[in-house]
Amino acid sequence: MYRSIVRLALLLATMFVATPSFAIDFSNQCHNDERVSIAAVGDLLFHRRLQVQAYTRTEGFKSLWAPVSHLLKDADITYANLEGPVAPGARSGGVAVKDPGLRYDNRVYSTYPLFNYHPRVVGDIKESGIDIVSTANNHAMDRGALGAERTIQSLQLGGMPFTGSRLEGQPRDFARIVETNGYRIAWLACTYSNNGMPDYKEQILQCYKHQDEVLEHVERLASDPSVDAIFVTPHWGAEYQPYPGGRQKNLAKKILAAGATAVIGAHPHVPQTWEVIEQENGRSGLVIYSTGNFISNQRTIPQRTGMIAWLELCPSNEDKLALAKAEYTPTWVIIDGKGLRVSNNDGSSGKVNSQASLNHITRLLPKNSTKKLPSYLVTSRAKVAKNLPWHYFRP
Ligand SMILES: [Zn+2]
Repeated sequence: MYRSIVRLALLLATMFVATPSFAIDFSNQCHNDERVSIAAVGDLLFHRRLQVQAYTRTEGFKSLWAPVSHLLKDADITYANLEGPVAPGARSGGVAVKDPGLRYDNRVYSTYPLFNYHPRVVGDIKESGIDIVSTANNHAMDRGALGAERTIQSLQLGGMPFTGSRLEGQPRDFARIVETNGYRIAWLACTYSNNGMPDYKEQILQCYKHQDEVLEHVERLASDPSVDAIFVTPHWGAEYQPYPGGRQKNLAKKILAAGATAVIGAHPHVPQTWEVIEQENGRSGLVIYSTGNFISNQRTIPQRTGMIAWLELCPSNEDKLALAKAEYTPTWVIIDGKGLRVSNNDGSSGKVNSQASLNHITRLLPKNSTKKLPSYLVTSRAKVAKNLPWHYFRP
């Protein structure tokens, strides 16, 4: 009896932990079991300490998010931004050298400002439940054209679908379709920049420089009757800003108007607000301006704060899947004697910093069951920004 009570309590605790604190209900509701669930996390940014941990433990990169891998596996499709090359035997400048093996040597496998990761990362993210990654980000060219080529080869070898980059000479077909439950879901990633690193062969899709091409991709996918939903994942925005800038807002509007289901951004290293934008045809488009860091060794409270965004899609009258619900699970990067790892954050740890992180994200994305975000998030920006717990920056 005692044991079953404990088990029940544990079950309830898990249910509570997995329940996001915020939800947007769209007018398109699910009526039967026909639905698709999407999970999206932000930047996978493996600084030195994280790579050392991954290369020296049997669980590898999986040790960096073990407390949440069950959540990543929960969705039909889980997306992440893989920020940096996976280019074995490539040093900076895109020069081929001898590969050091599974070892952080700071020459082939290195940290900021020029990242590169061992291909072990591919199998580890796949086994963790991640189904598609973006390869379009400002670190995409950290190993030059050789790095872009080898990254794609590493992902192909590991059977990991990717979007946003292409092999030299291949068609400029940057979108990927991921099939689930008989539905075909399109993904398209782009980036605002490559940190000034040249991309002579234009292997990486740029959000602003190639904006017309981005919108053409979305229009083409939207007019394809075999495509059921379209997610565009721009790498954009000003770093460390909790609110989107005008450039992000303009592009998001255009992408949704071109027919995308939702826009899920990253790069600012902190979570940014969400926005529901009604379309002329009556559809509701969602913009998650930034999911924040999923894992990194950045240390301030907002930088250690992230989310697993959950989107539920159901059939609509228009022959496509449409959004039915959007919510999130707050995440928090624990840093202690046992290393670094992402954990879901329900405030139950009792630790001051994780509570501050939860306060931060619930203030940015408050509990809400209405269709639109509370107006104060848009209208009194300065006031809310002043109230953010920036003073908790250093743990
Ligand atoms: Zn970035």
